[in-house]
Amino acid sequence: MTKKSSKKTAASPADAGDKTAQGICHLVGAGPGDPGLLTLKGRECLEQAEVVVYDYLSNAELLSHVPAGAEIIYAGKTAGRHALRQEETNALLVKHTAAGKRVVRLKGGDPFLFGRGGEEAQELAAAGLRFEIVPGVTSAIGGLAYAGIPVTHRASNAVLTIFTGHEEPGKETSGIDYKAIATAPGTKVMLMGVERLGPITEQLAAAGMPEGTPVALVRWATTGRHQTLTGTLGTIAALALEKEFKAPAIAVFGDVVKLRETLNWFESSPLFGKRIAVTRTRQQAGGLLAQLRGMGADAYELPTIRIEPPAEKTAFVEALADVRTYDWIVFTSPNGVEAFFNAFFAAHEDARDLGGARIAVIGNGTARKVREYRFAVDLIPKEFVAESLLEEFKEMNVEHLKMLLPRAAGAREMLAVELEKLGAIVDDVPVYRTVPETGDVSGGIRRFREEGADMITFTSASTADHFMALNLPLPKGLATASIGPVTSEEMRKLGLPVDLEAPQHDIPGLVQAISTFYASSK
Ligand code: SAH
Repeated sequence: MTKKSSKKTAASPADAGDKTAQGICHLVGAGPGDPGLLTLKGRECLEQAEVVVYDYLSNAELLSHVPAGAEIIYAGKTAGRHALRQEETNALLVKHTAAGKRVVRLKGGDPFLFGRGGEEAQELAAAGLRFEIVPGVTSAIGGLAYAGIPVTHRASNAVLTIFTGHEEPGKETSGIDYKAIATAPGTKVMLMGVERLGPITEQLAAAGMPEGTPVALVRWATTGRHQTLTGTLGTIAALALEKEFKAPAIAVFGDVVKLRETLNWFESSPLFGKRIAVTRTRQQAGGLLAQLRGMGADAYELPTIRIEPPAEKTAFVEALADVRTYDWIVFTSPNGVEAFFNAFFAAHEDARDLGGARIAVIGNGTARKVREYRFAVDLIPKEFVAESLLEEFKEMNVEHLKMLLPRAAGAREMLAVELEKLGAIVDDVPVYRTVPETGDVSGGIRRFREEGADMITFTSASTADHFMALNLPLPKGLATASIGPVTSEEMRKLGLPVDLEAPQHDIPGLVQAISTFYASSK
């Protein structure tokens, strides 16, 4: 375990000898939604969690940091509906922590701002259990930053008031002093309460806030669904009704809203607002998702395939035993590289056992994978397709050379057949197979059904095959993106259109093509 866990916190029970003292609950701020806004400490807690209790506003994608086998519990609430009552959540945290587990309570934004994190910590303290707080980026500040609104600015204000709109204004028991808020200087930020915007803005105006005060509402801030609506204290409630601007949203009142005109960086990203479904395996989707999101897209995982060992392993085992005898190893996909080297290093302790084989790859992504294992690539064709690689081999004499082709079970054999025609001795060996991803592991299938997508990306023929097998309804206007000709051919065979094909057949090439596609359609 890390340094952290051996350190006693102020909340540690006095009787450290107690068995329950092994258990610990981390109240972790998940940030406002962009998965990149989780802290390093928060990620470390997730990576070591045995139980995770998360809620509606903490991005479920963060659960990919949680080890397989951990228990994951959704305690989510949506406005007006409580999935788990607060007492039930508290009891869950106490129960698992007392059982000696490493528990993470993942909460949207910062755990100590209007999220009842304080109450949960109190319950743990009362039960004599260990807990730690991992602060997070709050939507009240970070969320507005993504809308180009700094909550303070030297020229406009030096005071910031954050309040909750959760309570009905005018309610006798309301703890909120609208008069004090309306007359306080500086920026006011309201969390919760967009549903009560009408009465709240009336109350603020009646209490002395000028009708012309600039106001912005930001919903699903920092996520791909991020949206901003601006107006004034006098107009915003009607505008929100008209545009059906719903929770979760932050409201900000004050002159800082005007700074958006020049600071609105996120909403002007090239792919902002484009909803893109990525069909790669969960393990592989990360890079493409991150690049698309970096350009502002609402990109989400829709994994259609999973990588597994081949059903028939004999050929692979034999090839590994004879691996020193090959003149060439030809990799046609990053998955093949991974499956090959993982098995190789499981069987051999010395990298030199690979012998003197030269290494050829089809494309950049595959080459990068080979280099990750600290092997150099000797041959990479100009175009990232098998035909181009074959041309390269034609130019050298490969007669009687022994070649190993570690590849997917059931992949096309053109390369092996053609290399044999050139006189090579080819072992065409399945080292992995792609199987359909069963179950909606990332929630992407539900999103695709409910919200659709502007674009879907296919990075191999098998992602397209398995996507079609899911039989999902295709949303109107859906654009399709393909990584290269083999994938495009398969898509057409399946009856899918090909709206764009990456001229360079790798992930950066695909991202570039998507960006060009939208730039030219603007
Ligand atoms: N602890 C959280 C706030 C919890 S209260 C934080 O620090 O951000 C829940 C309210 O937070 C929501 O009703 C909404 O007003 C706001 N909120 C949280 N995440 C948001 C997001 N991504 N976009 C807009 N509002 C958000």
